[in-house]
Amino acid sequence: MKIEISLKVKSTFVNKFKSGYPLITKEAIIKLNDLEEGAIVKLVDDQNRFIAKGYYGKQNKGYGWVLTRNELDQLDQRFFTDKIRVAIDYRKLFFQDKETTAFRVFNGEGDGIGGLTIDYFNGYYLLNWYSKGIYHFREYIINSLKELVEFKGIYQKKRFDEKGKYIEEDDFVAGERGQFPMIVKENGVNFAIYLNESAMVGVFLDQRDVRRTIRDKYANGKNVLNTFSYTGAFSVFAALGGATKTTSVDLANRSRSKTIEQFGINGIDYEAQDIIVEDVFNYFKYAVKKERKFDMVILDPPSFARSKKFTFSAEKDYKNLLKEAIAITEKNGTIVASTNCSSFGMDKFKGFIDAAFKESGEKYKLLEEFSLPTDFKTSKEFSEGNYLKVVFIKKQ
Ligand code: SAH
Repeated sequence: MKIEISLKVKSTFVNKFKSGYPLITKEAIIKLNDLEEGAIVKLVDDQNRFIAKGYYGKQNKGYGWVLTRNELDQLDQRFFTDKIRVAIDYRKLFFQDKETTAFRVFNGEGDGIGGLTIDYFNGYYLLNWYSKGIYHFREYIINSLKELVEFKGIYQKKRFDEKGKYIEEDDFVAGERGQFPMIVKENGVNFAIYLNESAMVGVFLDQRDVRRTIRDKYANGKNVLNTFSYTGAFSVFAALGGATKTTSVDLANRSRSKTIEQFGINGIDYEAQDIIVEDVFNYFKYAVKKERKFDMVILDPPSFARSKKFTFSAEKDYKNLLKEAIAITEKNGTIVASTNCSSFGMDKFKGFIDAAFKESGEKYKLLEEFSLPTDFKTSKEFSEGNYLKVVFIKKQ
């Protein structure tokens, strides 16, 4: 049995952990010495009474995660296998769906183990380790997969260098190596996936329901602008939904070939679409100057980004981003406003939307909204984990 190190919880935080809050933060602990990554920690109150048990692992979000509130639980092979088994059962319908072969199998604290996610790509499993601490338990986790599922191969992303960034190396772990691009499906649409290239594999799985909604309900006959477009996933769905034209704008050079590839594997002529490698904020200026307007504008910026001319922070700058979009959206057009920023919630996001329209002197109607899809299971005690907010807005 591993030694458990007691951490005394400040009295104001005791009830929070007792009611299921999973993240171990610096503020909550009386004295948090630098522990060894992967150390098993026991949270106790000032009388040394047991509250919860977890592991130490420094990541941008905190210093580790609670894994159980049962003192008798051992954090052993069986513990991890049980958690992963429950998570796999929860995604049963996804495993059966022939039209969607890429989804999340394990979503960190939402499935009971913060700091770890597992995604499925057509027989391959991709592990994301968010701290050295959780990486310490890798054998348990990989053994669990070996026991519970049939896989072609396993890949991993270590997201724990000094700044919590991805460590570039060979990401292959077990089984057989994949051939990349690997083609996976999402609601019948193809995606080209690269599991051994960088931290980003080609698609953000959490936007699945939004992509389908754009294709099935909004795109037909529309001239669509997709900003921060990455591999153009929203553009592909819009084109398949009958958009007259899509324009994809992203700063990164790689986005052009990646977007051409995504159109190509879905039988769409990319030459009939616009793919622009440029700073979105420059593009907005250009569009205003050319009096170019769109029926649909999709906004999906990163929470933080620094380009040559601009720094963008969702919390500070989303309102202005919306104002730029409002200016080039046709009357009765749709704006799809998305953010993955976990530092504010839906109410505040809707506040940005309201302020942007008011300051632009325009009226709007909220059409529908989305948060994470069901495979991205969240914990109700940890609302920060439910980071995705997407709102469909009609400019009136
Ligand atoms: N909407 C995409 C995901 C966006 S990821 C999808 O659904 O797949 C964020 C993207 O924003 C990255 O590809 C990054 O290159 C791009 N980006 C960041 N800052 C930018 C800027 N100022 N202008 C244009 N693109 C930017």
